[in-house]
Amino acid sequence: MNGMNAMRIWPWIAFSVLFYGAGSCLAQQIDPEIARQIAAIQAIDNHAHPVLAPPLDASDREFDALPVDSLEAETDAIAVRPDFPLLGEAWRVLYGFNSPPPLDEQGMRQLNEARRQLATQKGEGFPAWVLDQSGIATMLANRVAMGKGVEPPRFRWVPYIDALLFPLDNSAMAAASPDRKAFFALEDKVRSRYLQESLLTALPARLDDYLARVVTATLERHKSGGAVAEKFEVAYLRSFDFSDPPHATAEKIYGRWTKGGRPDPDEYKLLQDFLFHYIARECGRLGLAVHLHAMAGDGSYFSIAGVNPLLLEPLFNDPRLRKTNFVLLHGGWPYVREIGALLQKPNVYLDISSQSLIITPRTQAQWLREWLELVPEKVLFGTDGYAYSDALGWPESTWIASRDARQALGIALTGMVADGEISKARAIELARLVLRGNAQTLYKFE
Ligand SMILES: [Zn+2]
Repeated sequence: MNGMNAMRIWPWIAFSVLFYGAGSCLAQQIDPEIARQIAAIQAIDNHAHPVLAPPLDASDREFDALPVDSLEAETDAIAVRPDFPLLGEAWRVLYGFNSPPPLDEQGMRQLNEARRQLATQKGEGFPAWVLDQSGIATMLANRVAMGKGVEPPRFRWVPYIDALLFPLDNSAMAAASPDRKAFFALEDKVRSRYLQESLLTALPARLDDYLARVVTATLERHKSGGAVAEKFEVAYLRSFDFSDPPHATAEKIYGRWTKGGRPDPDEYKLLQDFLFHYIARECGRLGLAVHLHAMAGDGSYFSIAGVNPLLLEPLFNDPRLRKTNFVLLHGGWPYVREIGALLQKPNVYLDISSQSLIITPRTQAQWLREWLELVPEKVLFGTDGYAYSDALGWPESTWIASRDARQALGIALTGMVADGEISKARAIELARLVLRGNAQTLYKFE
């Protein structure tokens, strides 16, 4: 029994020493000049979900097409638990609020009061103020629609397009899990909205009319509304194994099931596969990048096998899709090596959003360094700032992810300089590319 206790205590002591000394240990691992330069870069955040300015923030639900707060419980990662130590630093920096996490009910009330005062004071400028605190010049806002305070030039729009992949009766797909039941109901709503915007009350009877009057029309509306990319959350709805069926096959399937009835699952998959190719090709024509959620996702039913980015390789190898730029969001975790290899495709990029929040800088730095050693022009900074919980709002998650991403970048680049792979000047250049320059080139920002 004593032996067991000793074994339990030692790791705890080791953890405490490591954890409480973590700030200074990390600082020693990052070259001070590189750290200073990284801190000064005003970044382009490739992916996040900002919430509208007050007072609309209280009722805003358009920050995600598939909000994850209605899912069945999962085992949360440390970074999204209410006792995550970095939360305290974020609250202090953002709101001057000094109680450490976790907060009891009274503490939560006080935090909300501090947030409310600041948001009221900043008013419509509150979302841009959050970017200022996090060293972000421009944030790509992945939202169903833009709105007050979340507008260009500080915010650029990335709408959702999954709903148009699933035009038929989705009840069989929804029955796969309680989470998918909630998701497909939300997708049906987004599709109704897109139909309405296309001045239709029902699906056109023919596939070609659906493609022209709904799909292309929606993409063109998004483009003229300021969109720079289209986002697919398809990994929450089905796997990445898209085949390439001919038009005639898709036309037959669409015609057979569009009037109603539960489509045959194999036939429906072929139609989705065809529509994915069509949308990706249209995005290329319109100069919209295709964003794909590419990481183990939220919820206890998410298919981690289905999000393996190697399943997308046939798309990347399709010559008809070479004019479309694909950005794999969240660095592909746990497929961090597979995603690195895919960067050799000329039209494939990745961002580090979400992993910059969930995974510690030290751990992220390992594969970030691998990518930077191979193709540094294809790696983009991102936060995935999101209203995760009462304790972790979009301002906190944006701030923490921006801080951790910069530390990870600092560790990776310092290591490359120390090993004689690159000069310090090149390290600083690479930091600028990842935090800003690569996105600027990809989206043709001024
Ligand atoms: Zn996201």
